[in-house]
Amino acid sequence: MVTSDLNGADLARGEALFKAPSTFVKGVVRVADLPNERRPEVAFAGRSNVGKSSLINALTGQKSLARVSVTPGRTRELNFFTLGNDDAFYLVDMPGYGYARASTAEVKGWTRLIQDYLKGRRELKRVFLLIDARHGLKESDREIMTLMDEAAVSYRGVLTKADKLKASELAVVEAKVSAELAKRPAAYPQLIASSARTGAGLPELRAAIATLADSQTG
Ligand code: GDP
Repeated sequence: MVTSDLNGADLARGEALFKAPSTFVKGVVRVADLPNERRPEVAFAGRSNVGKSSLINALTGQKSLARVSVTPGRTRELNFFTLGNDDAFYLVDMPGYGYARASTAEVKGWTRLIQDYLKGRRELKRVFLLIDARHGLKESDREIMTLMDEAAVSYRGVLTKADKLKASELAVVEAKVSAELAKRPAAYPQLIASSARTGAGLPELRAAIATLADSQTG
């Protein structure tokens, strides 16, 4: 299903990284309030309802970790969670975008926050861009991809809810999304297909994050 460049050691490191309990650290609405410890971090971005909270909970094995942050007001924040032993790493849940009923002021607010965060965050090692396997890339995904290309922020596509498609349908979406990402300068070439429901792709995703954990923070 997914081409993988990971070996057994990477998979074991991924498992170990996510074994340590994660805790919610803070929600940030202005870049001035970003945590200033120089810990490497990875962020999860995607349209509202893409399955971001479910995926974060499934990855960490903590059923209500991301839901903690989905109280009113919290959904427009960058939510920071610890990751790994000694809280060596941050996992960042970015505000979901593309929400049809958001007001213009709200959209402006989170666009600004996302822009500022993506432009200036040296600790950010990679953004995992979640894409609903049933829908593929949408205009709002392309907008954030352009932002990341311009800011030279490395990102990788992750298809969510893969369980909703037949293997043959999934292969078609993978090919289509991969082809589009291949044209993007800051996109990582390989997609990961995942399902919070079946656990598909989770070991690969944990391993992909673990391989970034040793990166220097500059
Ligand atoms: P968020 O808005 O991106 O945080 O999305 P949620 O995690 O709240 O999920 C949105 C909806 O998609 C919920 O109804 C979930 O139950 C459903 N969902 C999330 N992940 C999966 C998955 O892997 N498979 C299936 N079938 N449904 C999922």
